[in-house]
Amino acid sequence: MFMALKKVLVTGGAGFIGSHLCESLLSRGVEVVCLDNLVTGSQRNIAHFTGNDKFSFVNTTTCQKFDLEDGFDTVFHLASPASPVDFHRIPVEILLANTAGTYNALAFAKERGARFVLAGSSEAYGDPLHHPQKEEHWGNVNPNGVRSCYDEGKRVSEAMTMAFHRKYGVDTRIARIFNTYGPRMRKDDGRVIPNLMTQAVKGEPLTVHGDGKQTRSFCFVSDLVDGLVRLGEADHVRGGLFNLGNPHEMTILEAANLVKRLSGTRSEIVFTGRPEDDPARRQPDISKARNMLGWEPHVHVEDGFRQTIDWFRGVVK
Ligand code: UDP
Repeated sequence: MFMALKKVLVTGGAGFIGSHLCESLLSRGVEVVCLDNLVTGSQRNIAHFTGNDKFSFVNTTTCQKFDLEDGFDTVFHLASPASPVDFHRIPVEILLANTAGTYNALAFAKERGARFVLAGSSEAYGDPLHHPQKEEHWGNVNPNGVRSCYDEGKRVSEAMTMAFHRKYGVDTRIARIFNTYGPRMRKDDGRVIPNLMTQAVKGEPLTVHGDGKQTRSFCFVSDLVDGLVRLGEADHVRGGLFNLGNPHEMTILEAANLVKRLSGTRSEIVFTGRPEDDPARRQPDISKARNMLGWEPHVHVEDGFRQTIDWFRGVVK
């Protein structure tokens, strides 16, 4: 029912989630090749396992055809910038990573007869019309708005994955990843968790966009990685699509207050402008992953926030 992974390719392996995935696979004795062009990933994220002889790093882009040695049983395709700040900074690169990049990663998996796990996104739901979000929801996405490079990029990544599955029989699986947080997020990443925690540690005002009533459901990175690994290992989910995230929903104002309390900061909360097309609510329905993968998150938001605040204390000067 579950295949033991032996040798995997992780594209985007030097990024936040990617580096935790590499680490988890290495701890299980899996050989890992990490491919990353370091556009948002960092060698710091993988520095502590570069001495491991089961790990190797290839500095290249997925946007051009790449060639590697033989023997891969699985490709985890995570390579893509993912922060709303990047949507403004490098929108064309994001679209290329999710079109050409996903094509090249799938072509590699097809050529090698490897399984393919796509890191898709809850952004496929856009500003969702149903709550909580089930995999059947087709989404409510502005196709040319400021988030479209990522939303539509992830949607075309899904379409590309299913086309390779249907046309060429590639053994694919798609994860729709909801908001994930933890150590190794970039402090200048611009997302709400790094922003609030960096601000708290520095004693600067905590910025809440709009009235802070919009919601997100935050998943600690170790839980998310456990879901991705199960998705790669499970034999019975060929062509499948799964929400992966923590269903614990909270408003952004609640998240800010929690950061304030757990960090002990004296910083005040300030309300600033809300970005265009910002989704109002987001909460995964994870029944399918529970039933078919036996997966669910275990890290309580207070524990996860504490660990992440501690990590930001170490990196914020
Ligand atoms: N947000 C906020 N303060 C910040 C950064 C973000 O209130 O300093 C809000 C943002 O407008 C959104 C939510 O927090 O409503 C989550 O934003 P994030 O950029 O983390 O990711 P998203 O889920 O939108 O992709």
